[in-house]
Amino acid sequence: MGKDNTITYAIGIDLGGTFVKAALVSNTGDIIFKDKLSIGSEALKENILDTLESIIRTLIDKGKKEQFDIVGVGIGTPGIVYEGVVLGGADNLQGWKDINLSTYFSNIFDLPVLVENDANVMGLGEMVYGAAKGSSDVIFITVGTGIGGAIFINGELYGGYKNRGGELGHITIDHNGLDCNCGGGKGCLEAYASTSALVKQYADLSGKNIDTINGHYIVKKFNEKEEDAIKCMKEHTDYLGHGIAAFINTFAPQKVVIGGGISEAGQFYIDMIAASAINYAMDDCSVNTEILGAKLGNDAGCLGASSLILKTKPI
Ligand SMILES: [Zn+2]
Repeated sequence: MGKDNTITYAIGIDLGGTFVKAALVSNTGDIIFKDKLSIGSEALKENILDTLESIIRTLIDKGKKEQFDIVGVGIGTPGIVYEGVVLGGADNLQGWKDINLSTYFSNIFDLPVLVENDANVMGLGEMVYGAAKGSSDVIFITVGTGIGGAIFINGELYGGYKNRGGELGHITIDHNGLDCNCGGGKGCLEAYASTSALVKQYADLSGKNIDTINGHYIVKKFNEKEEDAIKCMKEHTDYLGHGIAAFINTFAPQKVVIGGGISEAGQFYIDMIAASAINYAMDDCSVNTEILGAKLGNDAGCLGASSLILKTKPI
């Protein structure tokens, strides 16, 4: 690989609760190099910053060796992000708040650094390169330990005033419902329809030890036609359908893209959610909506983060 003046490159970073993933990505959407480092569960802010610096430096050095034109660094991080600053709300990373990631890393690397919320960059990845490519109005949700989301209106990421919104996991589906991790919320979608909620529902119903159960296990049991797994999976996809119906009625998206580990369970999973969502949504709102699984898997975050810099547009 040699120098090509027509192609530019960016580093895309996907910071999660346990790992940081990084990729050197071209503006044609090709991942040239990838890397991944773990973040210890006891990691403090300084440790996380050091890990990020190290992984960015590794990829910049590799890219420079090939004389690639690296034009910036895009970072997806948990939490509320505004103008390059992580304001807070990243509960799974200790002390991860009030940090100007943009200034911090642009001073170190002398490159522009743009920062967005992690679910937003995953959604952006799917918009630019994945399941929602070519669409302008899209809802993305990621189902995992929690439920994250991203909203795209007219081809642009929409985060509400000062980027504090888009918390699609925290719409209420039962006003007298379960307490939610978000603080004051009761009966939030996340409390019912996250993978963690599914695991708890299945453990309660089956009487099995919750520590031996995860999403994969329940999907496996569902495929083996185990009664408890079928019941829980029907409920889980029905909860998601309720939430998605609310998004459809609000935004009338062209596409609803479902990501997160469990979304790779199989087409049956997406089909069950879609049937429920379309059933609950208003016909006039859902007439143009297609519900589909994410395509980029673990690469969505890095690809989306790189496109913050490369300004690659979905349409
Ligand atoms: Zn909540």
